[in-house]
Amino acid sequence: MSVQQFDPQLAPTPATPDDSASHASVDAQPSQKKGKPGRIGMISLGCPKNLVDSERILTQLKTEGYEVVPSYDDAQLVIVNTCGFIDSAVQESLDTIGEALAENGKVLVTGCLGSKENEIRQIHPKVLGISGAHAYEEVLSQVHQHVERPQHNPFTHLVPDHGVKLTPRHFAYLKISEGCNHRCTFCIIPSMRGDLDSRPVGEVLSEAQRLVKAGVKELLVISQDTSAYGVDIKYRTGFWEGMPVKTRMMELCQQLAKMGVWVRLHYVYPYPHVDEVIPLMAEGKILPYLDIPFQHASPRILKLMKRPGNIEKTLERINRWREICPELVIRSTFIVGFPGETEQEFEELLQFLRDAQLDRVGCFKYSPVEGATANELSDHIGEEIKEERLAKFMAVQAAISAEKLKQKIGNEYQILIDDVNTDGAIGRTYADAPEIDGVVHLTDEFDVKPGDKIWVQIIHSDEHDLWGVKVDE
Ligand code: SF4
Repeated sequence: MSVQQFDPQLAPTPATPDDSASHASVDAQPSQKKGKPGRIGMISLGCPKNLVDSERILTQLKTEGYEVVPSYDDAQLVIVNTCGFIDSAVQESLDTIGEALAENGKVLVTGCLGSKENEIRQIHPKVLGISGAHAYEEVLSQVHQHVERPQHNPFTHLVPDHGVKLTPRHFAYLKISEGCNHRCTFCIIPSMRGDLDSRPVGEVLSEAQRLVKAGVKELLVISQDTSAYGVDIKYRTGFWEGMPVKTRMMELCQQLAKMGVWVRLHYVYPYPHVDEVIPLMAEGKILPYLDIPFQHASPRILKLMKRPGNIEKTLERINRWREICPELVIRSTFIVGFPGETEQEFEELLQFLRDAQLDRVGCFKYSPVEGATANELSDHIGEEIKEERLAKFMAVQAAISAEKLKQKIGNEYQILIDDVNTDGAIGRTYADAPEIDGVVHLTDEFDVKPGDKIWVQIIHSDEHDLWGVKVDE
């Protein structure tokens, strides 16, 4: 996991929706001398959910007239939004706090690691304030205590309707809930972020509409468990444009589908009601893309993991989804080397991969997270075996992925341009989420800009990416 250093040389940093990514908030404000009132720096570590929290804090700071600056020297105070998901993320967060203290001296800590206040204070006693995940008001009130609120100037402190975004202008994360009701044994998120807390559907849809009006072409729906949206409030009916709408994944998708942009679903669990959204995908209303973190395929290991969803019927369900929507792309993540995983159970996982033919797959070696109940399980797997299993797993998936991408050669797809550099343009089809999946390279194509949607024909592939040429619409 790399830390984006809080450095005046940094250009505005696009978001990386990889759970292990880090972000520095940098704002293209001209650099001015330290000590000018109302200047705040922020470093955002961790997953897209944390990034959305940082965007909210920055939006509120800007609304109050604070200026967000890109260097330790310019800031009167630095906020570090931490991640505490795995041990390496904890270490990165602690290192970043240390760096911010050394470089600036006035530091507030927020985010997941904030739930371990004692641990932070033991190492960094000089931190000014600590708050947990999505504690926006607490962060703001701590800022007020240490940095005088600047006089509000309506001309220089304009905040766009969509708030402050840390992603490029053409895509945005839409966080629909906080927390999680599950208790997967390898995960400590519920202890850091609490139980499921769904945002009112009208609020989510208003935010989506503001983002679309501001030029966003792709909405990435995120949460800890998107398919559980609304369970905590018994699918309460909210209102949107004068119409009643239930706080439920299906109804949310139906409304988002009307906004005329790409809508991509992340962190969906294979509950039976997920079947309902597949026809929306088949009709082209939302992207035929599902990010489902299966984590394993052996029923015994899944039971030990206490995973939601029923794996027994998963293959059947995937096949049924593909019959309804043949274009459906499934992305997933897995853990190998979970405590007690036998050679046979690992083979079961490989066989699942071969049978399920998933399009995009990430894999992690199991690593114990402090506070996770899986640590108490017996038969922890040795590092060497974990490495071996990871390599085997990735080899199987690489062959599947290469074959699937090869089948795309000759086909035409609409792509969304993410970047144009000296080699040409880079875009993505519906099959690829930003940063975590693959891309389409358009060599020597310069007549496009980020956010454009164009049609391309695929001419080449490898095991991860595609190459294409622009075609007339
Ligand atoms: S579903 Fe499991 S892994 Fe995901 S946040 Fe909830 S407890 Fe953690």
